[in-house]
Amino acid sequence: MREIVFDIGGGTSSGHPFKAAQTGGPSGGCIPAEYLDTPIDYETLQKLGSIMGSGGLIVMDDRSCMPDVAKFFMEFCMDESCGKCGPCRGGTVQMHRMLVKITNGSATMEDLTKLEELCLMVKETSLCGLGNTCPNPIYSTLRYFRDEYESHIRDHHCPAGVCQFTEKPLRIAAAG
Ligand code: SF4
Repeated sequence: MREIVFDIGGGTSSGHPFKAAQTGGPSGGCIPAEYLDTPIDYETLQKLGSIMGSGGLIVMDDRSCMPDVAKFFMEFCMDESCGKCGPCRGGTVQMHRMLVKITNGSATMEDLTKLEELCLMVKETSLCGLGNTCPNPIYSTLRYFRDEYESHIRDHHCPAGVCQFTEKPLRIAAAG
C-alpha cells in the first residue's frame, strides 16, 4: 500500500501526514498508517477490516475526522439502499443518525454501544452485499480510531478540528 500511496500516487494531496486509506468504495474500511507496509490482496484487506470491493482507494491526511468519515460513507450507503429488506433500509438510516449525534456532540457512550450492536445486526441479517458490508467504515474506524469517537462523546472535542458541536440534543435541534 505504501508503494501505491506514495510512489505511484505521490502521497497526500495536501502534503499533510498520511492518516488512513479507505479501500473498496463506500462500504470498505479505513486502514491506518501502521499498516501501510501491507500487501493489497483480498485476504489481507479482509483481515484488516476492509474489502477489495470496487478497487477504489481514498487517501486521508491528519485533518480527517474518522467519525465524520464514517458518517460520510454511511450517508452514501443509506441513499443507495434499495429498501427491499428492513435491516438495511432502517439500519442505514439509524446508523447515520447515530453518527450525526456523535459528530454534533449529542451522543452518549450508550449510543456507541447501540451503534456497534446495530452494525452487527445489519451486517448479519441484510439480504445482499450492500447491507452486509455497509457497517465496514464504522467497524474499521472504531477498531483503529476509537479514541476519536470517545473524544467526541466524552469531551465534545474533535481531534481533527472538523466537527462543530451543538449544545442542544439532536432531537431539539432538528425541531428548530
Ligand atoms: S441489503 Fe441489499 S436488498 Fe437489502 S435493502 Fe440493502 S440494498 Fe436492498
